[in-house]
Amino acid sequence: MTQERPIYVVGGGLAGSECAWQLAERGHSVVLIEMRGVQSTPAHTTDRLAELVCSNSFGSQTDYSAPGQLKWEAEKLGSLILKAARESTIPAGMALGVDRVVFANSITEAIANHPRIRIERRVVRDLADIPRPTVIATGPLTDQSLAESIRNHLRDDGDAATSGADAVGTATAGAESEFLYFFDAIAPIIDVDTINMDIAFKADRFDNGTNDYINCPFDKEPYFKFIEAIKNARKIEPKEFENVPYFESCMPIEVMVDRGPLTPRFGPMSPNGIRHPKTGEKPYAVVQLRQENREATSYNMVGFQTKMAYGDQKEVFRMIPGLENAEFLKLGSIHRNMYIHSPRKLSPVLSSKKDAELFFAGQITGVEGYFDSTCIGLLVARFLHDRLSGREVAMPPRETAFGSLLNAITEPKKHFQPTNINFGLFPVPDMKTRNQKDRELKREVQLEIAKAAMTKWVSETTGLG
Ligand SMILES: Cc1cc2nc3c(=O)[nH]c(=O)nc-3n(C[C@H](O)[C@H](O)[C@H](O)COP(=O)(O)OP(=O)(O)OC[C@H]3O[C@@H](n4cnc5c(N)ncnc54)[C@H](O)[C@@H]3O)c2cc1C
Repeated sequence: MTQERPIYVVGGGLAGSECAWQLAERGHSVVLIEMRGVQSTPAHTTDRLAELVCSNSFGSQTDYSAPGQLKWEAEKLGSLILKAARESTIPAGMALGVDRVVFANSITEAIANHPRIRIERRVVRDLADIPRPTVIATGPLTDQSLAESIRNHLRDDGDAATSGADAVGTATAGAESEFLYFFDAIAPIIDVDTINMDIAFKADRFDNGTNDYINCPFDKEPYFKFIEAIKNARKIEPKEFENVPYFESCMPIEVMVDRGPLTPRFGPMSPNGIRHPKTGEKPYAVVQLRQENREATSYNMVGFQTKMAYGDQKEVFRMIPGLENAEFLKLGSIHRNMYIHSPRKLSPVLSSKKDAELFFAGQITGVEGYFDSTCIGLLVARFLHDRLSGREVAMPPRETAFGSLLNAITEPKKHFQPTNINFGLFPVPDMKTRNQKDRELKREVQLEIAKAAMTKWVSETTGLG
């Protein structure tokens, strides 16, 4: 099938790359516009498509988890990002960890070599500058001028006009605004040769047999000293974002410490399921390091997103047993993250309520995380394809992980917050849960129903052209 008008996808991140690929595979001509190469964002460091800005993990891929189910469904739907991720894996226990360079190179090559995709390197500053149909997949760090243009477009006609940087620079978390904001932070990366393996050791939680993580063990007293040092370190907090909330699953370590000295020990520093391979002892707390690249020359600090000043980070993190002489290849940092109030502003297929040919995809729609953003890019490609083919849009069944995620960002609600896939988003099966065993059974039933519904949807929608 050949589409006469090209489709414009703005943003060559995770959602944009997946969306462009899916559309091209369905016979459409696609122009993918990416600004990196001309202008970067505060978090990206390369011009590669689908660059991962922080962790190198796409999250759990176990069969019995909600993120695992999302991946199972994405595989059925032929996700390019998932395929490339699986071809770029590094050891990461039950998670889908990737070598970020290998991964981004593979996506860049696949897109650049696709006969129906043309890549343009430029900054889109105004929605009016792009022909329709368009998919905006510019992510949480959308260029400021385009963000303003989107805001002006989405503003209700009766809203008071605001202009200039204030229009998007003001931190607004209220349910009535077009845009909502929160913080996202980045964790440091360490040169493996500078980790003292006489102190640190390889092990996985609950001995799953892979030994993929390096663990830096804490005794009780050094743990509390470390927590105190985090408390006292200088923090970078841009004034304009003072009232902006953090997203729970990407919370800086010092914000966790502010909640209580033991909070990290119940979070990323939990010693649960970890035993020293030589002594068999369980440490009081641990810092886990995950392999960063295929060559295993660098490791990142799991859950150690931070907004500490650079100098203080080095000092504080070198208090971690085994990291006394650590060399940091990249230090942690913090960035504002922006998303649209999708339930108010977008249609059920994620197009603007004011412009049926203007679609949004990825994190900007209010999903959170690399893979969830990817999946929204994939869905939007299918919606747009159905629209352009002149037939009714085939919505993913509500029981599936895709349907549940979409429902979470389109169903009207008072307090809209970014979310990633979790069991709470799936429909509740008709069964009573009284204890943990029942809850596990309920989840099994949810996954079974989801798999059956997705299998049916795929067979009904495949080959429609
Ligand atoms: C600092 C930070 C850390 C994060 N850490 C994690 C993490 O560890 N794990 C996780 O799962 N998620 C993380 N996220 C959340 C999120 O999942 C990622 O940001 C993800 O990349 C979102 O995918 P996306 O495709 O929507 O946006 P992106 O991958 O950011 O892609 C958007 C693309 O649009 C381009 N662009 C922006 N504006 C324009 C314009 N005007 N014209 C042309 N191109 C433009 C950008 O250069 C970029 O390439 C983090 C987010 C931030 C901000």
